[in-house]
Amino acid sequence: MQRVAVLGATGSIGGSALDVIARHPETIRASVLAAGGNVAALVALCATHRPEHAVVGDTSGLATLREGLRHAGLSTQAHAGPEALTALVASEACDTVVAAIVGAAGLDSTLAAARAGKRLLLANKESLVLAGELLIAAAREAGSTIVPIDSEHNAIFQCLHGRPAGTEVQRITLTASGGPFRGRSRAQLAGVTPQQAVAHPKWSMGPKISVDSATLMNKGLELIEARHLFGLPDERLDVLVHPQSLVHSLVEFVDGSTLAQLGLPDMRTSLAVGLGWPARIASGVGALDLAAHGRLEFEPPDLATFPCLRLAREALRTGGTAPAILNAVNEVAVSAFLQGRIGFLSIAALVEDALAAIAAEPASSLAALGDADARARRHAEHAIATGTLR
Ligand code: NAD
Ligand code: MG
Repeated sequence: MQRVAVLGATGSIGGSALDVIARHPETIRASVLAAGGNVAALVALCATHRPEHAVVGDTSGLATLREGLRHAGLSTQAHAGPEALTALVASEACDTVVAAIVGAAGLDSTLAAARAGKRLLLANKESLVLAGELLIAAAREAGSTIVPIDSEHNAIFQCLHGRPAGTEVQRITLTASGGPFRGRSRAQLAGVTPQQAVAHPKWSMGPKISVDSATLMNKGLELIEARHLFGLPDERLDVLVHPQSLVHSLVEFVDGSTLAQLGLPDMRTSLAVGLGWPARIASGVGALDLAAHGRLEFEPPDLATFPCLRLAREALRTGGTAPAILNAVNEVAVSAFLQGRIGFLSIAALVEDALAAIAAEPASSLAALGDADARARRHAEHAIATGTLR
């Protein structure tokens, strides 16, 4: 029996992971469920999936969680806070960890899973952007298998059969849907609302990644993610807009052959690859009917209208703490946009400003990365509060 810790259980990826797990009751079970603040939703998931442990993000939620579990007649043990979560992730309570907390808040638990040698189903791309080198090194040292869950990286992982890119791969191309604002001009983006930005045409996802898809920062974060996962230099990583979102990425080999992975846009496929690897298991995702879809289209990304993709590539080239700064400011800016405190175009402006204002330093330790993250957040909060970049 494979015992799985689902971190971010109440979110979009968490829900998809639990859906796949529940299809395989004989071989896979959810043994740990962790969420941020929504205790009622966490208790409801515990009632369905009966894990041994449930963890809420903040200690202030512990009493409510304990009471909710007791009231539901469940024997699930209640825990709270980041330390309890990292301890559980590293413990005997699980063999596999689905890292699906959103943002840099997911770093500690993701790192704990890698250090403990767990199979790591990595959806939390921000942890790779922030501390990719340390995370990959920790996984290698402890013998942790990382299966990327981001659909593009999962596609590449499948094309490579889980092997390193080595000398056989010439180029990796990440496909991008283009998001809800593909084809618009900068002027047309000035007044877009959070509601319009999170209405993704192809994927149903949490609010933060949906906004990242609308700015194309998501694809920028994915370039950095691909750099760490597959070890290819930035000039051999490409982005291609593919509005149908059926081709999830492509790998070009030195012999001129290109492999791609196709499927319906449903994250349960990636999660089933991770849970079953190297075997294939059912995911609940329907078959791809190419005749019904008819067309597969491709076009280059519009970097002038969507500067976040360019900024992410620049941060990748700069290296050191630059990706951590990019990620931190983006998290602050997306949150401010969702709260109606800044406009859509200010997200890129804030990121550009911070990357110019804060010098990148070597990313030699977790402490250095944490400092860069904190400094970048303060810088962005100040710029928003004083209205310098509204
Ligand atoms: P979401 O907003 O739907 O869910 C986020 C989850 O994280 C929730 O369960 C929330 O309670 C939990 N959480 C937030 N802060 C926390 C904290 N401090 N401590 C503990 N738990 C916390 O987000 P999502 O769309 O499921 O995305 C999750 C991650 O997966 C992100 O990093 C995202 O980039 C990545 N991802 C998502 C998709 C997708 O299709 N949704 C695709 C690729 C990658
Ligand atoms: Mg993706």
